[in-house]
Amino acid sequence: MPSDTLRTIGIVGAGQMGRGIAQVAARSGFAVLLHDQQKGAVDTALRFIDDNLKRQVEKGTIAPEVRAQTLGRLNPASDLAACAAADFVVEAISESLALKSKLFETLDSACGPGVILASNTSSLSITRLAASTRRPTLVIGMHFMNPVPVMELVEIVAGQETSRQTIETTRTLAQTLGKTPVLAQDYPGFISNRVLMPMINEAIFALHEGVGTREDIDAVMRLGMRHPMGPLALADFIGLDTCLSILEILHAGFGDPKYRPCPLLRRMVDAGRLGVKSGRGFYEYASGETGR
Ligand code: NAD
Repeated sequence: MPSDTLRTIGIVGAGQMGRGIAQVAARSGFAVLLHDQQKGAVDTALRFIDDNLKRQVEKGTIAPEVRAQTLGRLNPASDLAACAAADFVVEAISESLALKSKLFETLDSACGPGVILASNTSSLSITRLAASTRRPTLVIGMHFMNPVPVMELVEIVAGQETSRQTIETTRTLAQTLGKTPVLAQDYPGFISNRVLMPMINEAIFALHEGVGTREDIDAVMRLGMRHPMGPLALADFIGLDTCLSILEILHAGFGDPKYRPCPLLRRMVDAGRLGVKSGRGFYEYASGETGR
C-alpha cells in the first residue's frame, strides 16, 4: 500500500524501464503519472503493460479486478509540469548525462519543495545529477533491474549530498514496491556494474584470445557457477553498446587499466552488432527473440 506521504509517483521516460517501473508502482497501489517526450511512447507503454497484465490474468497469477485497478491508476502526463505534481519522481530517460542534467534542472523548478528526484541511471554519477538542482539532498539513485516486474533488486545510490531521510524514504518505497533494496555509494558502476561488467569483459577477452568458444565460455559460468545465463549471452541481452559505455565510465572514473574494454567488444559495437536488440551479438537472434 502507498505510504501516508507518498501517493503519486511521477515517472519520466516510458521506455523499457519506465514502463516496468510504472507497472510495479501502479500494481502496488500508487497513482502513476507517466511522461515521455516522444509522441505515442506513453500509449505504447500502457498497451505493453496491459498485455503483461492480461497474460497474468490468463495464467491465474492475478485476478481480473487487479488488472483493472492497476490500469486505472496509470495516468498519462502530457507534459513535464503535469508529471511534476507527483510526490516522488523517478527519471528513466535515455542514458545521457546532458539529457538527464537538463531534465533534473527542469524538474527541480517544477516539483514541490520536498519532492525526491530519483534517477534509474545504470552508470552516471548521482552527485553530478544532483549538482544540476538546488535540492542535492533530495536527489538519489534508484537503479531498478530489467525486467522490472520480475527482478527483485533495487540498488539505491547515495550521492555526496543525499540526506539520510532521502535514503530511508527511497528504501521504504522500494520495499513497498515489493523489491529488496541495497545501498551503494556513488562511485562508478555502483555495486552491480562494478562487479558484473569486469566479468563480462573478461569473458569477451577469453573469446578474443581463443581460450574457449562462445558456447563453452557461457557453459562454464552456467553449469560450473550456476549463473542463469552465460556472460556472453547476458552481454547480448543488456546490449553490447551499453556494456561498452559502462566499461568506459569505469575505466575513466577509476583510471585503472583493469577496466579497459576488450577490443573485440569495441569492434562488435562499431559493426552494429549490439546483441538481442540488433538481432546479432555474440549469438544470432530471430526477430522477437528476447535472449537465450
Ligand atoms: P529506452 O530507450 O527504452 O527508454 C528511454 C525513454 O526516454 C524513451 O521512450 C525516450 O523517448 C524517453 N526520453 C528521452 N529523453 C527524454 C526527456 N528529456 N524527457 C522525457 N522522455 C525522454 O531506455 P531504457 O532501457 O528504458 O533505459 C532508461 C534508463 O534506465 C537509462 O538511464 C538506463 O541506463 C537505465 N537502465 C536500463 C536498464 C536496461 O537493461 N535497459 C537496466 C537498468 C537501468
